This record gives sequence, structure tokens and C-alpha cells, in this order.
Amino acid sequence: MAKIIFLGTSGDSIVTGKQLRASGGIIFNYNNMQFHIDPGPGALVRAQQYGINIRETTAILASHNHTNHASSVNALISGMTLNGMDKKGILIANKGITEGKNSFVTEYNQTLLERVINMDGVAKVGINNIDIVKTPVINHAGNGFKITTPEFILSYTSDTENGVELKKAHEDSNIIIINCKHPSGVSQEGHMNVDDVIDFLKATKPSLGIITHFGIKMIQKNPLDETRIIQRESKVQIIAAKDGMEINPKDYSASLKQKKLKSY
Ligand SMILES: [Zn+2]
Repeated sequence: MAKIIFLGTSGDSIVTGKQLRASGGIIFNYNNMQFHIDPGPGALVRAQQYGINIRETTAILASHNHTNHASSVNALISGMTLNGMDKKGILIANKGITEGKNSFVTEYNQTLLERVINMDGVAKVGINNIDIVKTPVINHAGNGFKITTPEFILSYTSDTENGVELKKAHEDSNIIIINCKHPSGVSQEGHMNVDDVIDFLKATKPSLGIITHFGIKMIQKNPLDETRIIQRESKVQIIAAKDGMEINPKDYSASLKQKKLKSY
């Protein structure tokens, strides 16, 4: 069993502040291992709304210490561990999130978990038959994640610019979740727009690309229209994430196998 559920697709403070799109992060579930990626404001509310039991979370993955990505980690730890009565779960993050006076996750909450792993100094995390590695980000804080299962590779760019290093890190992924904050022609340091995503996909050629993390200009443009442009130009199958959207990675299994063979 494998599924990806979007508890949010918001990518800036306007969209998040007004909840034009939700900001609860992304759930990846593989054979009853549940991963909660980048829980922003409202993660608990959206989990409840979309039928996710956060008590069943195996690991929380937070990519960097910004509101949209890590601000609900404390609330999730509390709910997941019953405030430490059931000490369990893993936080996979980096020092920006767990150390220092501006870090979102309190020292106390970290003690309620079974393990806290800072990816800064760690090459690979193994959880049962799943491997998680960090992927680089360009001109931005933190890191992305690549999750390798026995059947496919799922990766998440997090917030980053496009570039050689980024493409190389994601080239063997079958499904890539891409933070596409802006439409074509709108540029911001540390983030990708539609033009960047087209270039990135031409190089990485996943079986499926999913764009999310939309800023206000992207919302005004309509992400669905933008995916048509991206798909036409990159020739990669692409979906614009919606709040509550559920995807089964194995629905793309024919092409998943091809890509996997290529990567060996
Ligand atoms: Zn962001």
C-alpha cells in the first residue's frame, strides 16, 4: 500500500495567512509507515479533515526552519506521543530546526520522541526497508528529501532554485514533488517558477512530477493551466497538487519500473 496525500499546497505567507490553500504538509504512507513532510500551520486540523491519524506517524520530516515547513512539528509531537506518555516516533530534520534560540522545535518536545536525526551530518537514514537521504537546495536554507522504497523512489525538492546539483540529486526519482512557487516570468532567490520547473523536468524525467507550494501569483494564474504548459514543454506527466488530493504512486508503476532499471 502506498499513497501520497496533500494536507496543504500553500507556498507563501499571503496564501497561508488567508488559508487560500491549506498548509498542513504532505503525508506519504508506505505499507503502514506514515511520513509527515513539512507540517506548516494547521497540520493537525488538516490531518483530521483528510482522515489522517497522526498517532500512526512513523516519522516527521521537516526540510527547513520556516513557518510553512516546520511550525506544526511541536503540535504533531504532542499529539503523536500523547505528550510523551507514549514515547515514539522519529524527527528527521536539521540543526536549523532543532538547535538554537530561533528553532521551531522545543528541546522538551524533542525528548518525547524515540529519535531526533539531524540530516546535516548524516548520509542516510534507514527505517525498515525505506532509505531516506537529504537532497541539496540552492540559495535556500535546509534540504530536500529522497525516499527510496523497494518499489519506487519518491523525492521532494523543498524550497530551492533550479541548478545542476539539484537535477543530479533527483535524476533517479520516479516521482518528484516540486515546490513551484511562482508562474513563468516571476523570479525570487531560492525558489523555482514554471520556467525553472520545465528545465528541471527535462533533465530529471520522472514518471510523474507533482507541483505544489504555490505563492499568490501562482494561485491567481491557476496552477492547473500552468501544468498544461509544463507538460507540453517538458513532455513529463505533471499534476498540480490540490488540498486533500491523494495519489497512489503505484498507479504509475509501468513507468516506475523502467526508470528504476535505468538507474541501476
Ligand atoms: Zn517554503
